Amino acid sequence: MKENRSAVAATWQVVAVATKSRTHIKDITREVAGAVRQSGVENGLCYLYVPHTTAGILINESDDPDVARDIGETLDRLVPRDAKYRHYEGNADSHVKASLVGSSEIVPIEGGKLGLGRWQGIFFCEFDGPRQRQVKVRIVGD
Ligand code: ZN
Repeated sequence: MKENRSAVAATWQVVAVATKSRTHIKDITREVAGAVRQSGVENGLCYLYVPHTTAGILINESDDPDVARDIGETLDRLVPRDAKYRHYEGNADSHVKASLVGSSEIVPIEGGKLGLGRWQGIFFCEFDGPRQRQVKVRIVGD
């Protein structure tokens, strides 16, 4: 017999992100938590997907905002803009940095809230800003 999963089928939501500088590691935890709250899901998974080639997403410390700045500045040092690249567009460093941080995350949902660790936050990672960007969010209940 077929399981009836259509009743709990989730759809993708979009969180808009406005970035302010070429490299901008921006805390979006509150926006994602809002999407979880709105869904009414008590326990499950929150999938986050960034549909861009020069931006990504990561989870790290949000308590001290300097950590996000350190991550952005360190990636800029590790992957300099003016190194020798082949890519014609002139933003090869942005593509490399986006590849290093990755384009998706999965966060548990526990008791109707994001199941992040005490010090963790969710960060959108801009590497070719400033721009208007998106994060696709899908919330799936158990
Ligand atoms: Zn490019």
